[in-house]
Amino acid sequence: MFRHLQSELESRLTALHSQYQCEQCTPETLSGLEQWLQPLHSGCGYTNWQRAALNLVENEIAADIVNRLNAIEAYKNTFNCHMCGMCCRMASADAPYDELQTRAKAGDEFARQFTSIFLPYASREAAIKVAPDVVKAVLTEAGEKENDGERVYFYHCPYLGEDNRCSVYGTDKRPSICQSYPETPLSFVYEKCAWKPWKDETHQDTLAIHAMLALCNQYADTLRASLLAPEPAEIAEPDSSVCSTGPASFVGQEPLF
Ligand code: SF4
Ligand code: SF4
Repeated sequence: MFRHLQSELESRLTALHSQYQCEQCTPETLSGLEQWLQPLHSGCGYTNWQRAALNLVENEIAADIVNRLNAIEAYKNTFNCHMCGMCCRMASADAPYDELQTRAKAGDEFARQFTSIFLPYASREAAIKVAPDVVKAVLTEAGEKENDGERVYFYHCPYLGEDNRCSVYGTDKRPSICQSYPETPLSFVYEKCAWKPWKDETHQDTLAIHAMLALCNQYADTLRASLLAPEPAEIAEPDSSVCSTGPASFVGQEPLF
């Protein structure tokens, strides 16, 4: 998926490049996307390609990415909660309660909402007694191994009723993290959660889209820097390296995952 998106992006930028030309730059001096992104010589005809490419990445492709994420979100809304209560009974975080409280006080909104409802289990063993399979699955997904020391901490919500219903549903005590759970296909979900099929079907695409977003940001940063770079006073030879100065681009590097 990522390679498909990456080649789609490169194709669109390459097609755009063919609409521009420069009397000094030859195919040898500008031999590919990596060089097209770098600072160009004064008056280079491909400067307008860089502007157009920046516009394409920042606007059109960014809009495509948002549409793809919206489609995944819309698909999520076709599933209905089983009301099993597991996500309220066995939540997890990457930090102990006191650290989450510190983060909340420092302005971390997720930590603020999380600590407004969840309480820590007295111990890892206490959590295992409640839902051993879920604890094991969370630890596997988090990559915690024996002798690692605890990297995952388990919590429960006291507002969960014995009937598995939320006793603060519809009140301002129920934070938005409950309403939006699972926030993305990258969130952990319990094997029997209603959204497990959604997560399984969209997880890889979401990873690819996030990687694509990171790639677009890199392209945009490189293009912005090139467009703002001071122009060289003059060029010695048309086929010199003036069109290919700057750091090596990420193009051609291994994808982010
Ligand atoms: S506030 Fe309600 S929905 Fe949120 S975790 Fe607690 S019981 Fe579940
Ligand atoms: S674990 Fe999934 S199905 Fe169960 S209550 Fe939570 S969101 Fe609903």
